[in-house]
Amino acid sequence: MGKLEGKVAIVTGASKGIGEGIARVFARHGAKVVLAARGEDVMALAQELRDAGFDALGVRCDVSSYEDCQRLAQAALDAYGHIDVLDCNAGICVLGDFLSADDSWRDSHIDINVKGVWNACKAVAPAIIDAGGGAIVITSSVTGDMVADPGEVAYATTKAALVGFTKALARELAPKNVRVNCICPGYVRTPLVDGMAQQSDPDDPERAIAAIASAVPLGRLGTPEECGELCAFLASSESSYLTGTQVVIDGGSTLPETSSMGQ
Ligand code: NAP
Repeated sequence: MGKLEGKVAIVTGASKGIGEGIARVFARHGAKVVLAARGEDVMALAQELRDAGFDALGVRCDVSSYEDCQRLAQAALDAYGHIDVLDCNAGICVLGDFLSADDSWRDSHIDINVKGVWNACKAVAPAIIDAGGGAIVITSSVTGDMVADPGEVAYATTKAALVGFTKALARELAPKNVRVNCICPGYVRTPLVDGMAQQSDPDDPERAIAAIASAVPLGRLGTPEECGELCAFLASSESSYLTGTQVVIDGGSTLPETSSMGQ
């Protein structure tokens, strides 16, 4: 029996990248998965999972809209009758220059990365409480709370905010038997990171990817499914005494104190 057998799990940002990995892993662990994203791709991925014999529903939803998140919760309830898990993974990262960037750059990150998580939790948590409790997992990042590179002010601001959000919501929902934790990935090879590599080195984006990998003690970027396995653990009863935590999954990228000592 899978660790998420019988659970109904909503995953936002599930059409590609880390969210796709989370959705595939959740399905393999026995969850009925509700995949949410803005574009049409999410419907195709849900269909692919159904064709493979899994329980999956695709819902087009922009998490920056609270009404969309309410529709997402209702779609999950209509399809499966209850909700046990919410995985808030949808997010954007666009590099920018703090001194010259338009404020719309800041606002788009806040609208999706912070308000999107807020909206999804507010819309879905009541159903999780009605089901007797469950788990919320949020995708933060090592960026913001632990490290940062030039160009990441808007993104880092939002990802650090999610660590505080996780702790405060964990405190508030603990008496209702809802655990709230976040994952802090380092670099994971996804369409988002491919886009950042393209922005950073338009002539040779693979050079940017190789440079990232060379700075990671494990020598490579993470995979979406490795993040999915961590999220499945945090969503399951295997992590029943964890709440309000941030779990770093970064191949050791935040470990190096110097690039020379002991080399
Ligand atoms: P990605 O490849 O760009 O995928 C992002 C997903 O989010 C897509 O499914 C996208 O689909 C969806 N999405 C974006 N805006 C949305 C919105 N307003 N409403 C609903 N869905 C939305 O990104 P990723 O690299 O997998 O990143 C996923 C999460 O992990 C993000 O929160 C990111 O900050 C975090 N993260 C990533 C890394 C990394 O190295 N990749 C590291 C640390 C943290 P649509 O465009 O169709 O909506």
